[in-house]
Amino acid sequence: IQRQSICILGATGSIGTNTLDVIRRHPERYHVFALTANQNIDLLFKQCLEFEPEYAVLTSEEHAELLQAKFNAENISTKLLIGIEELAWVASHKDVDTVMAAIVGAAGLIPTLAAVKASKKVLLANKEALVMSGAIFMQAVSESGATLLPIDSEHNAIFQCLPEHFVSQGIQSCGIHSIVLTGSGGPFLKKPLAEFPMISPDEACAHPNWSMGRKISVDSATMMNKGLELIEACWLFDVQPEQVEVILHPQSIIHSMVRYQDGSVLAQMGNPDMRTPIAHAMAFPERISAGVEPLDFMQISQLTFEQPSYERYPCLKLAKEAMTEGGNTPARLNAANEVAVAAFLDEKINFDQIASVIQQTLTETEYAGVVDLKSVLAADRVAREHAQQIVEALSTD
Ligand code: NDP
Ligand code: MG
Repeated sequence: IQRQSICILGATGSIGTNTLDVIRRHPERYHVFALTANQNIDLLFKQCLEFEPEYAVLTSEEHAELLQAKFNAENISTKLLIGIEELAWVASHKDVDTVMAAIVGAAGLIPTLAAVKASKKVLLANKEALVMSGAIFMQAVSESGATLLPIDSEHNAIFQCLPEHFVSQGIQSCGIHSIVLTGSGGPFLKKPLAEFPMISPDEACAHPNWSMGRKISVDSATMMNKGLELIEACWLFDVQPEQVEVILHPQSIIHSMVRYQDGSVLAQMGNPDMRTPIAHAMAFPERISAGVEPLDFMQISQLTFEQPSYERYPCLKLAKEAMTEGGNTPARLNAANEVAVAAFLDEKINFDQIASVIQQTLTETEYAGVVDLKSVLAADRVAREHAQQIVEALSTD
């Protein structure tokens, strides 16, 4: 087999480290070409020692000198690049076959789009990039002929449940009835609503089934994550929001399902471990081991399902409405959510205020159609600034 050359955007995060764990098991298949991080120089340094990539990119300039000194001291041949512009450069480098897009939030949009435009095999974990730029992103995929494979476990599951000709012939030819997106409901599925204002960042980040970065953990607790995933599913699979049903499945064993018109429902199952979708997308259409325990049905006493309540999860409703409204609304929703979640993690606002910051931002900033990347970035900036003002007003109350 030809070794695939990989660039990992966001190598030091939860998805990044899981990706390196899969690579570590298959050195004959994968070569690490570039690793990027924002500020975690200790981990980036360790990863460079182990995987010897051609390039490492650090976007925050603060500790760059220290990291370069460590590279020099260890005689590491990896070339260190500093600054945000370098992300797109490594992601579109001619020697790269595959790009793992695993930066969190809007910061991942430009390098991920660069990888798409350079016709790479793009493994998409960074859902915010697609949520923000939807039509533009998908148009870039079809124009460049890039291969886009979903890492998000739900979308990876849906992809696995669709027939092979879905990619070339489109969803209409597949006889699909609807998509069923499952979500655990996060840590507060049973918590009395009256206690929501007192939820602490650490409580919100303690997910019952998945270990993830802090931003997506909070998104899972508010179910904004499922809302962003609904938008992600609409773009990836070319379906309308009404064709995506969100259901709660607290055990996180069924990762999502596809309903067909003949009454069949296909589900993808597995232990909740991101190495499964990562290994699936990396090796696609082949299968490789991922270090994940096989699913033991005797250990699972039951699989249960319930309807999510919008009273408990207002963010889910906001996201669905944003997708229905279209234009720049998903980009504004995403920007307001990023600001609100950061403010919550900073203990500036309460957990239940995350949804109100987003809602207020959406009402008070302007709807516009999205014609190009510039309009996406403008909507992101305006909503971000506006949400920040709302947060400041709330935190001085
Ligand atoms: P983490 O917070 O664990 O990691 C984020 C990565 O992005 C780190 O490498 C971080 O660097 C880097 N980064 C953060 N901010 C910037 C920035 N401004 N510019 C450049 N790089 C930056 O996140 P996760 O791994 O949990 O999530 C990554 C993406 O994958 C998200 O979009 C998330 O929604 C998605 N996802 C994650 C899942 C999971 O299980 N974790 C599941 C499904 C999707 P540093 O370490 O230096 O800060
Ligand atoms: Mg997911």
